Amino acid sequence: MRFEHKALDLLATPIWIISVGEEEVVYRNPASESLTAGMALSEMRKGCHSAGAEEFLSAYLPVLQARERVAEVWTVCCQGQAVPLSCHLFLLQSTVGCEQILVEGILASLPVMSGASPTGDGDECLYEKLFQLSSAPMLLIDPGQDGLIVDANRAACRFYGYSHEAFCRLHTWEINSLGRNVLPIMHEVAKLAGGHRPLNFVHRLADGSLRDVQTYAGPLELNGKRLMLSIIHDVTEQKRLKNELEFAARRDYLTGLWNRRYFLGLLEKLRHQRRRHDADFSLLMLDVDHFKQINDCYGHERGDEVLILLARTLENRIREIDALCRWGGEEFIILLPHTDLENALHLAEILRTAVEQLKAPHLPHITISLGVAQYQQEETIECLISRADSALYQAKETGRNRVVAAR
Ligand code: GH3
Ligand code: MG
Ligand code: MG
Repeated sequence: MRFEHKALDLLATPIWIISVGEEEVVYRNPASESLTAGMALSEMRKGCHSAGAEEFLSAYLPVLQARERVAEVWTVCCQGQAVPLSCHLFLLQSTVGCEQILVEGILASLPVMSGASPTGDGDECLYEKLFQLSSAPMLLIDPGQDGLIVDANRAACRFYGYSHEAFCRLHTWEINSLGRNVLPIMHEVAKLAGGHRPLNFVHRLADGSLRDVQTYAGPLELNGKRLMLSIIHDVTEQKRLKNELEFAARRDYLTGLWNRRYFLGLLEKLRHQRRRHDADFSLLMLDVDHFKQINDCYGHERGDEVLILLARTLENRIREIDALCRWGGEEFIILLPHTDLENALHLAEILRTAVEQLKAPHLPHITISLGVAQYQQEETIECLISRADSALYQAKETGRNRVVAAR
């Protein structure tokens, strides 16, 4: 533990410090330990009562750097039960590559923001105008009545496809895909002052279709009642495009396997972990034998089909934790975490035999050559790949359709 974190040990507020690159908790104070009992970060951020705006914490870095408020609801454990806990996120350290986020759990309720508390008839009239004229869907929710939707503006009726009358009989949990699990989250959000980043949810429209939405919620006092105003932003299309872009950025277009760029990132991450946790890992590099002849005799399209079949064959024989990448052309590379040279050689032999015995109608018979290398203390990723590549070259030189271990 770093010296400056010792002061945080004394706080009754739960605190976590997270290293953004590895998405790992690097420090938690005793107040947080009693709430999480060793839960992993992913369990807290992706649990049954969790809500946030981003899948990975690294995506918050630009807004945290701009000092915007970021809040998430995490799932923690209280007397053996999963419960929601709203948290504020702050940037603790911003050195590129070593960013750390401090997460503070909010145990006590916060007061309703004064700016959002109309006091007289005039304010309520203003509320009515703002509410109805807004082109953004808005819902007024009563947390005290099981999340009843007490008002919905025209934009919301249009977006969800309900009449105003029908909408005002529904509860927030009836339009949220989380169902009644959203209620504890709603109560947590109702405690937060407004003005934080939106939270992501999936909402169900009247016709049953689902939309990805971001909700901006804040407390609002109306006619002496503590309500919650939620502004809804439909991000379905944005999310679809983001997923498509992420897929394209990480995957090879022909086989759908990891591409070289993403794979190198994975490898670097594992090398970094290896330093700390001291687990073995190995690389397996393979290349189709005489593939040029296959293209020449059967055509490029059949060649492509062979590559796809090879990708599926390899994929079916590796573990979930292994990573398979199309390194380029007819060359593939497999990262085997927690695997020493002996076990990697064993798998290489299984793959070689499987490909040799592969039979598919209308596709030519192929064989592969493989080079296998185990990561050595302190070597660079380039060095590890180069050793696997040299072993592959030797396998080619000594007759193909064989496995060679790197030295
Ligand atoms: P060896 O590896 O056994 O030494 O012989 P080879 O014939 O496989 O070697 P080489 O690396 O010279 O040839 C690889 C060929 O793979 C050349 C290229 O036309 C073909 N190739 C590369 N990418 C693709 C692709 O996406 N689809 C198809 N069909 N062929 C590809
Ligand atoms: Mg080849
Ligand atoms: Mg090649």
